[in-house]
Amino acid sequence: MMFCPKCGSILAPKDVAKKKKLGCLRCNYVAKERPNVKLQETVEKAKKVQVIEEDPMKSYPKTKEECPKCSNREAYFWTVQTRAGDEAETRFFECTKCRHRWREYS
Ligand SMILES: [Zn+2]
Ligand SMILES: [Zn+2]
Repeated sequence: MMFCPKCGSILAPKDVAKKKKLGCLRCNYVAKERPNVKLQETVEKAKKVQVIEEDPMKSYPKTKEECPKCSNREAYFWTVQTRAGDEAETRFFECTKCRHRWREYS
């Protein structure tokens, strides 16, 4: 809700020179900018869509590892330290094609 800086009345959409503007109904004050609430909403929606579409695995390094499920020869990999320091890191893979996940057997 916006108020007129001249008289304090509530500002309402008003036709000024055939353009929709936000203006005061009591005096002749007209806000210079159109309310851009709709524009902001659109930006927010665009951001959300982008987040959903973004592949979380995209930033992982790829390696030439054969997928046990579909025989695709490329997989993302990352390492996980299973116990505090005394054990070697375990490598995990995710197939770039079928998204099957498996761990390295040593
Ligand atoms: Zn006013
Ligand atoms: Zn696969």
